[in-house]
Amino acid sequence: RDLVDPEQDPDERAAESALRPTSLADFDGQPRVRDQLGLVLEAARHRDHVPDHVLLSGPPGLGKTTLAMIIAAEMNAPLRVSSGPAIQHAGDLAAILSGLVEGEVFFLDEIHRMSRPAEEMLYLAMEDFRVDVVVGKGPGATAIPLEIPRFTLVGATTRAGLLPGPLRDRFGFTAQLDFYDTDALERIVARSAALIGAEAEPEGLAEIARRSRGTPRIANRLLRRVRDYAQVRADGVLTAAVARSALDLYEVDEIGLDRLDRGVLEAICRRFGGGPVGLSTLAISVGEETETVEEVAEPFLVREGFLMRTPRGRVATPLAWQHLGLTPPAGAPG
Ligand code: ATP
Repeated sequence: RDLVDPEQDPDERAAESALRPTSLADFDGQPRVRDQLGLVLEAARHRDHVPDHVLLSGPPGLGKTTLAMIIAAEMNAPLRVSSGPAIQHAGDLAAILSGLVEGEVFFLDEIHRMSRPAEEMLYLAMEDFRVDVVVGKGPGATAIPLEIPRFTLVGATTRAGLLPGPLRDRFGFTAQLDFYDTDALERIVARSAALIGAEAEPEGLAEIARRSRGTPRIANRLLRRVRDYAQVRADGVLTAAVARSALDLYEVDEIGLDRLDRGVLEAICRRFGGGPVGLSTLAISVGEETETVEEVAEPFLVREGFLMRTPRGRVATPLAWQHLGLTPPAGAPG
């Protein structure tokens, strides 16, 4: 799953950052989010204020980190990056918050995975720009309020529903990022191809865009793999035929499903008669973490109409059977 898995290794990360758009104008797709966010930032600049806290939610690779960087750049503000799992104690958070400078953008990735005490400290910081530092233990402990600079929190999560209500409510602006349409992906791949100096035909780029699961990170990654293939097995030009052969080699099918996606659908159809099957049983049968199946594979399969999440478990739709070239048994669900 190394090809389309949006989890990163350092080389991929470096290649990725080179392709990141750095301004809202350069950020393609997600027109509504872009317009709304543009307005929030412009209003803040007008009033000479720090922008409201922003919550970004959506599957991996759709541009949450990119948007956080853009917010900082557009506000001409420094950026501090951390993530929920890295903040286990409230003290870790207090140290970061008290070290911020006025107007700094604090990007907190995987915000739903922060510890409870840190979360409570964050409520106060977001609302009153204050943290209570507890000194001592037991009945003698006292909370010393500490003022912190005004900052903008940009929280990212794969699903806004994972956040407790009180935390969600403290964001002034919430954006749900959705999968990109093929037109936007084509423009993104074309821009990236130009940046990495790859010679490409429009049909080759379109083929990559079509097979990118609506995800810019995957589009950029497939582009680099197709370029490898073009250089080694062809004359260097990314044509439609080259893109198709390369992507077949990497087991990305013609609508962008990868090995895990197909594995999930095959398990439901072949082993569980089309479902319903519980998430954890399904994850075990494809040898993956439940989180990976739920947050990486499923959102796209649901959105493309291959899979349904029902209260009794996951169910394959007729489209899934058809895509796998299988015939559903009489009475199969879906
Ligand atoms: P994760 O939550 O997994 O970190 P993410 O949502 O933060 O994912 P990013 O790291 O922001 O995703 O984006 C992944 C890559 O996709 C970036 O390197 C960037 O080049 C590209 N990208 C994302 N959104 C866009 C866009 N709208 N236009 C052009 N490129 C984009």
